[in-house]
Amino acid sequence: QTTLTSNTKDPYPDWKPGEPVPYAALCTTFSKIEMTRARLEISAHCSLFLRQVLRLSPNDLLPTILLMINKLAADYSGIELGIGESLIMKAISESTGRTLSHIKDDQKHIGDLGLVAAKSRSRQPTMFKPKALTVPGVHKSLMAIATTTEGQGAQGRKVDGIKKLLSAADAHSAGKSVDIEKDKGGPSEAKFIVRTLEGKLRLGLAEKTVVVALAHAMITHEVSQKGNKTPSTADLAKAESTLKSVYSELPSYEVIIPAMLEHGIFNLKDNCRLQPGVPLKPMLAKPTKSITEVLDRFEEKEFTCEYKYDGERAQIHFVAHGADVELATAAPTAGKSEKGVSNIFSRNSEDLSKKYPDILAKLATWVQDGTTSFVLDCETVAWDMEEKKVLPFQQLMTRKRKDVKVEDVKVKVCVFAFDMLYLNGEALVNKTFRERRELLHKAFVPIEGEFAFAKFKDTNELDEIQVLLEDSVKASCEGLMVKMLDGPESSYEPSKRSQNWLKVKKDYLSGVGDSLDLVVLGAYHGRGKRTNWYGAFLLACYNPNTQNYETVCNIGTGFSEAILDTLHTELSKITIDRPKPFYTHSSGNKDQPDVWFEPKYVWEVKTADLTLSPRYKAAADEVGSGGKGVSLRFPRFIKERDDKKPDQASTSRMIADMYRNQESVGKTKGPSVDDDF
Ligand code: ATP
Repeated sequence: QTTLTSNTKDPYPDWKPGEPVPYAALCTTFSKIEMTRARLEISAHCSLFLRQVLRLSPNDLLPTILLMINKLAADYSGIELGIGESLIMKAISESTGRTLSHIKDDQKHIGDLGLVAAKSRSRQPTMFKPKALTVPGVHKSLMAIATTTEGQGAQGRKVDGIKKLLSAADAHSAGKSVDIEKDKGGPSEAKFIVRTLEGKLRLGLAEKTVVVALAHAMITHEVSQKGNKTPSTADLAKAESTLKSVYSELPSYEVIIPAMLEHGIFNLKDNCRLQPGVPLKPMLAKPTKSITEVLDRFEEKEFTCEYKYDGERAQIHFVAHGADVELATAAPTAGKSEKGVSNIFSRNSEDLSKKYPDILAKLATWVQDGTTSFVLDCETVAWDMEEKKVLPFQQLMTRKRKDVKVEDVKVKVCVFAFDMLYLNGEALVNKTFRERRELLHKAFVPIEGEFAFAKFKDTNELDEIQVLLEDSVKASCEGLMVKMLDGPESSYEPSKRSQNWLKVKKDYLSGVGDSLDLVVLGAYHGRGKRTNWYGAFLLACYNPNTQNYETVCNIGTGFSEAILDTLHTELSKITIDRPKPFYTHSSGNKDQPDVWFEPKYVWEVKTADLTLSPRYKAAADEVGSGGKGVSLRFPRFIKERDDKKPDQASTSRMIADMYRNQESVGKTKGPSVDDDF
């Protein structure tokens, strides 16, 4: 890696110090990345480009990074791209003077709207040379497009915004022909603008790679400023681990990048710690197949078994007025009460404050005197006020998601707290779980039906665990979460699927394994009783390395008529004429669904077992032979996962592991792995 990153040749020579980063420079780097699949090369291109940004236009580092990871702002801001094909086609047509039917024909033929835009733009003779696009300018325009959501004519204004960008794209090269066969359209700005708008750059450039490249670029820049040529391997590794760990505690480039530029990368940890207002990526658990497997994994270590509540994960942040802590006022709907400022975030770091105003209203009454700021990790669960017990997950799903008014709330929720990550100005993530739990119990007062601590028992007796598991299921829980109590292993590992947290779900015990979260890509028209709806659906997992969706099964079981009806209405709105270029599916005629969809919905699905099939492509690179992928046998729909985005679906690697392990589940241990990040 060192030799690659120490290459000092600037990737984009036509850019003067102090100028905003030319968008063409970013697109040149994107194009180089697009032409390779070698991880090291991708990382080197990123890092070289970022070094040039650091040297010439450091003030633009933030928008540059955001455009590289195809985001406009941190997840909690709720600002998202992912504009539908029809709007983009309209804008391409209007900005290039080609008819919509030409654009649609091209799209049918080429299958990649980015390339359609590149081709359309290249055919267009330009009389006036438009002003060249810059990275901060493009970011600003995209932001305006993404945030134009309300009021009359919002769609029209979005199209206008896209048109403006496309008209300014390729200022230097518009009119020159674009060869989409030879170099995938090359560094065409129109191509990358459209892909960015679609929410998919399709470069195989994972966020993790960008973070590593940024760390390498920064440390290389710092040592070169001190007159040294290249950083040592140890410095590169230290920079990388520092940035990764800071990002997992404080996933906000908006905060990290200015601090890094001001203080240097090695001083980041002192200047960027967990901050109320910025949600951490939650720690996740590994599945296990039996209680004996739990005992095997934890060996002699002490652990605790908690009820696994079946609701919605919630990270609750609170800062009392007057508390002496830095509060990032990041999330737009922070709840202000006379006691303080609070936020609730989902598993996905989305802002749930508008969904749970009832929780925000009561929050301050659950704390002991002296608790002035905290970040809690909890599960919100539907609660039966009369019977005083937990209700099934389906009840919670009936709550409105937005603009809920406290007085209208019908489904009451109880908050079950299971971890505390921050208390009174201090981050607790590096403390042991035993310490964090003690602090949690001291800082709060349970109130029946409103706030409770997750029920637990510290035991390593097989019989006792079995009883607890049965009790948890009787209490409408999904099973148990088993957690390491002591030592550095028991620290809170943001964004990691950790083997120090194990989930034992009641269903695993009957041998079906963990459920999967899959993306709906297509559907088949129903017959007989299902004539008016879709009768079956094509589902896929996600491969973060290639950024493709790989098909894994057809599903037609587990749907009530009411659900089929809703699905038909919702999915009909997002049909597309042909599969996206990032869908990987068998090309056989009989394997094609009747309709294709934009990637939007994630469903939880259970399966009897996994098998290999030529019809599907999941994990085909890893375990398949002769082009066969892994597929699910007898899949069954469980529920929609609206807390997951399509690229947070189960990964191809997870499916490959499940396939390999189905005969021997429980024998693999494996280290904690990055999950979402
Ligand atoms: P993934 O692990 O892929 O996120 P998932 O979102 O379907 O899967 P589960 O397999 O259900 O999650 O298990 C983890 C979830 O269980 C947590 O994200 C949290 O929402 C919930 N949960 C309920 N009770 C607890 C608890 N006591 N400790 C930790 N998590 C709990």
